[in-house]
Amino acid sequence: MSAPTLQDLAGNALISALREEDRRRLMPHMMIHELRPGDVLQESGQEVFETWFPLDAALASFSVATYRDNDAVEVALVGREGAVGGIVSDGSIAAYATASVRMAGRFIRIRSQTLEQLKTESIHVRHWFSRYSDYLLAQSFQNAACNAKHTITQRTARWLVSAMDRTQSNRFELTQEQLAEMLGVGRTFVTRTVSAMRAEGLIESRRGVFTVVNEQALRNHSCSCGAALERHFHAVLDNLYQS
Ligand SMILES: [Zn+2]
Repeated sequence: MSAPTLQDLAGNALISALREEDRRRLMPHMMIHELRPGDVLQESGQEVFETWFPLDAALASFSVATYRDNDAVEVALVGREGAVGGIVSDGSIAAYATASVRMAGRFIRIRSQTLEQLKTESIHVRHWFSRYSDYLLAQSFQNAACNAKHTITQRTARWLVSAMDRTQSNRFELTQEQLAEMLGVGRTFVTRTVSAMRAEGLIESRRGVFTVVNEQALRNHSCSCGAALERHFHAVLDNLYQS
């Protein structure tokens, strides 16, 4: 655990959308934590006390339980472009989804209560979170459409491209079981899809490690949902200070 520097803050695009004066306002209340895969950031049904910002290659994911078969399905990924916890609900209100660390790395933590105070002191910090919540809502809309319309191959390619863009790496520790769980599909479908992608020279997957071999071909196999969301992210956050 350590206090962040301004350079550390550059590792998160959401924080980078703020002007330096607002970043400096937040900085004294932030701490950096090294977290490991599986560490829980917020638990479904529990109050939210903290907001977490993944830095650099760190990755978190939201998952929601489907009670009938008792399986959790991943509903959103959050990497260096975003934050987890107390975004819409002002913190201290029970979380709907569980959020946990998907890929190890450094995360900035700020107490949700402190963040609420800072939102009242700066209209830009307030707008910053409102706009990010708009982006999270867009992500939910897009994922609902993606799950209904796009093939497992398109969705697998989208997940890998999305993880690659967020972590700036082409290599991920990820088992096929985890991938099946994240996509909410049966393991046999994922095994078949991954085998076909390997045969086409798009990826390698060995002992729980995925490596993207042909990035452009993988992007061609992905649906356009990820690119649409990225455009929306920039549309809502790039002009934060013009309002
Ligand atoms: Zn899609």
